[in-house]
Amino acid sequence: MTTTPDTPAQRAFTAPGTNIENQAYFDAAREGRLLLKHCAGCGQYHFYPRAICPHCFSEDTHWKESAGQGTIYSFSVMRRVPQPYAIAYVALDEGVTVMTGLVDCDFDQLAIGQRVRAVFRPTDGEATVPAFTPA
Ligand SMILES: [Zn+2]
Repeated sequence: MTTTPDTPAQRAFTAPGTNIENQAYFDAAREGRLLLKHCAGCGQYHFYPRAICPHCFSEDTHWKESAGQGTIYSFSVMRRVPQPYAIAYVALDEGVTVMTGLVDCDFDQLAIGQRVRAVFRPTDGEATVPAFTPA
């Protein structure tokens, strides 16, 4: 996975707010890696990153690198704006669903169930964010 700059035709991502629970996530994104939180207590992944597992309330959570592969669970294309864009829920192969942007694709060819892979985009701030593109 690599970080590639937006082409002029693509909408810039807004920088996310970072905090102690998600800083490692955004630091990894800057390196082109997608991290997920995994709970040693119940064996499940969760998203958004949290220090305490939302499934079993264990504090025994750890970062694991995602393969960055998934399928589109749902999506919406925003067209009545100066720079059209697509947002989606992507169900990762690890079992969590992430809200994200879809980039480098023909919005008319997107489909629920389509395979996608993670790519990384700069924001209008310092952070880099994961986005997805058709696999
Ligand atoms: Zn748990």
